[in-house]
Amino acid sequence: MHELSIAISMIDQILEESETRGGLDVEVVHLKLGTFSGVDKDALLFSYELACEGTRLKGSRLEIESIPLIIYCGACQKNRTPPSMYQLSCPECGTPGQTIVSGREIEVASLEVAA
Ligand SMILES: [Zn+2]
Repeated sequence: MHELSIAISMIDQILEESETRGGLDVEVVHLKLGTFSGVDKDALLFSYELACEGTRLKGSRLEIESIPLIIYCGACQKNRTPPSMYQLSCPECGTPGQTIVSGREIEVASLEVAA
């Protein structure tokens, strides 16, 4: 299960961060998740809870912010939202094979800790 290994490495990273900052009690983890990252949001939420068991993060909450897929069209020289995830072409001029600007992130944005 792809999402579980992502959750585990994310938790490792957060625990390390919490250790270097003197053992923080993390309550909420804010994650940026691109719609084009290939990660299923619900599966990740489930995996997170599972992977938190037996760690310092048990009981913490994962908040996921979805980042939309944005492509850059070289022909228009503008950022565009493609018509669908499976069709990475410019909605204005139809040029295919565009550069992905955002939508692939799996990134811990911030941590909320207990006061
Ligand atoms: Zn275009």
